[in-house]
Amino acid sequence: MTGSVKPTGRCYCGCGKEIGYGRFFAAGHDKVAEAAFLTIHYDASVAQMLHAHGYGPDEAKSVTKTAVGKGLWQECPRGCGYRGARESINNHVNRHH
Ligand SMILES: [Zn+2]
Ligand SMILES: [Zn+2]
Repeated sequence: MTGSVKPTGRCYCGCGKEIGYGRFFAAGHDKVAEAAFLTIHYDASVAQMLHAHGYGPDEAKSVTKTAVGKGLWQECPRGCGYRGARESINNHVNRHH
């Protein structure tokens, strides 16, 4: 991490659009920026990106398990193996259990 960024009122994808105060992206442009970034740096592959940062399919290298381990994410309290942010867990439990 190199310090946190602050919204400037212009879309962070670089399209030049003026947006509301306190926001980083015009609607949907975060996904566009993400896709462009992946294409430039990781051959448009999320797997490539994870691999480059030391994550992989092994349990010991699991990116989702690491997120839980850092206390940023949680595991499904019903023990099904689902991992996500607190809101995602709530949605998941309501929808799938
Ligand atoms: Zn934009
Ligand atoms: Zn679950």
